[in-house]
Amino acid sequence: MYTRAVAAFRASGSIHPVCPTHQKFAKLCVVKDTMKDNYGRPFFVCSERRNSCKFWQWGDVFEGPRPLCQHGMVCCERKVKKDGPNQNRLFYCCPKDDSCGFFEWKQQGPRVTNTGIVLFSNPLQYQYMIEETGETFNSSKSNTKEAYDEFRRFGLTSELDKIDLL
Ligand SMILES: [Zn+2]
Ligand SMILES: [Zn+2]
Repeated sequence: MYTRAVAAFRASGSIHPVCPTHQKFAKLCVVKDTMKDNYGRPFFVCSERRNSCKFWQWGDVFEGPRPLCQHGMVCCERKVKKDGPNQNRLFYCCPKDDSCGFFEWKQQGPRVTNTGIVLFSNPLQYQYMIEETGETFNSSKSNTKEAYDEFRRFGLTSELDKIDLL
């Protein structure tokens, strides 16, 4: 199962995450609880044994790299908790306690998830979902990033199919 998780992570095209607190490569794990919907899905946690931080991230979701703060460290991602127009908006900030004051709104970039394989398709097609919009598309590419790039360039796969039929 672990090997499958590694494969899913590689196929997602994302970069190995670094936990913002320790600036260490995060540890890849797999959901082992068969009762859970996400059984078998890879995820990342802090790799520090003592004083591990709360870093947590799905391993098969493609997301661009985080910016570096003025210390040159990988930023933390936080959510605005205060009431107001920016509530729940995500932003990046300095991971250190003595913050350098770095602040940047997170661009609403896509979070694309591989949601499985299209059954009975030949050639094999993978199914993807853009988490923000709930939009789904299919691609023959198993790498999430490549599939998304292709989707952006050519639009919906169904449009492509139409062209083939003409
Ligand atoms: Zn950590
Ligand atoms: Zn900093």
